[in-house]
Amino acid sequence: MRIAVPKEIKNNENRVALTPAGAKEFVKNGHEVFVQKSAGEGSGFKDEAYETAGATILPSIEATYETGEMVMKVKEPIASEYELIREDQLLFTYFHFASYEPLTRAMVKSKAVCLAYETVEKPDSSLPLLVPMSEVAGRMAVQKGANYLEKPLGGRGILLGGVPGTLPAKVLILGGGIVGTQAAWMASGLGADVIILDVSLPRMRYLSDVMPKNVKTMMSNEYNIRNLIPTADLIIGAVLIPGAKAPHLITKDMLKEMVPGTVLVDVAVDQGGCIETCKPTTHEKPTYTIEGVLHYCVANMPGAVPYTSTLALTNATLPYALELAKSGWRDACIRYPELKAGLNIIKGDVVYQAVANTFNLPY
Ligand code: NAD
Repeated sequence: MRIAVPKEIKNNENRVALTPAGAKEFVKNGHEVFVQKSAGEGSGFKDEAYETAGATILPSIEATYETGEMVMKVKEPIASEYELIREDQLLFTYFHFASYEPLTRAMVKSKAVCLAYETVEKPDSSLPLLVPMSEVAGRMAVQKGANYLEKPLGGRGILLGGVPGTLPAKVLILGGGIVGTQAAWMASGLGADVIILDVSLPRMRYLSDVMPKNVKTMMSNEYNIRNLIPTADLIIGAVLIPGAKAPHLITKDMLKEMVPGTVLVDVAVDQGGCIETCKPTTHEKPTYTIEGVLHYCVANMPGAVPYTSTLALTNATLPYALELAKSGWRDACIRYPELKAGLNIIKGDVVYQAVANTFNLPY
């Protein structure tokens, strides 16, 4: 199969859908790989590295789309790419169709096959192509929080782990899933006192088994949250209710109970946020302050660390991409039911019910 990898053109997107190591795997398995010039640059991969791996570098985005039977991307195509997509072409990327009708209609019109990373779902309901980005965001949340707790950046001036003779910072993590667990590892590793609040007892049992002594778990409810926030230095929002907006576990009136300089990092901001006063921010202007409480609410945190994010994402996507190239999308989806769940649009038909319902399209 001919695999094509265009350069991402969405604002501030530096990830790339395939690394030189991935290109080599395709070539080893008898496929041809075409990479648009400088597609890997933002993640630190030079054109020469792809060429050494056996890929061909193409000069333009037009030539790249033209050549590929399967196009691998990171973000959904933007308007200038719609016309480049051909009938029967297989597109393997994040789409998030339900959030953007023009993209959905353009892909229906293109008659391409659209397999969306975000809906690839295993029988146990896990989302293997979303997990790596949650891992990155969870770890980053603590790095960012520790940084913004410094006085010159607006925080209360506490070192996360303290030093001998001083108490460490207190970190509250709302939600003990992928993001919350990774955040807890990082914060506890730096020596902070960590409390994870969740509503799932099995999850909290698991966390108390595997976490170090400086991580405790507590049932998430308003009573416990109100009691804990006056003593917290860093609060990380990491709640997810699949298919729904995040609940506002921290409401505006609670900010008054916090010590000035407390830092809130709401990772769940992409689902509406679990802190009422959180509104999406960007890497250019990541924070703002309300009632002396610093808010960090960047909706695409992994974008700031494209080297790690690209490797983490492609570690997860490559095995599926190799299977798609080997067997074609139909047989690959029979062999791997999670891939079938990723099918959103097939040659003009919307085959993912939530997307069809959102835009009143036939299903
Ligand atoms: P997850 O499903 O692994 O974990 C969510 C956890 O929230 C679960 O353990 C669940 O039991 C818990 N939960 C549900 N209701 C709760 C409540 N009322 N109180 C406390 N806990 C509750 O999800 P995840 O992969 O960890 O993702 C968390 C959020 O981070 C999602 O909204 C995801 O979209 C977002 N995210 C954002 C970025 C970013 O760049 N901002 C990156 C990756 C993920």
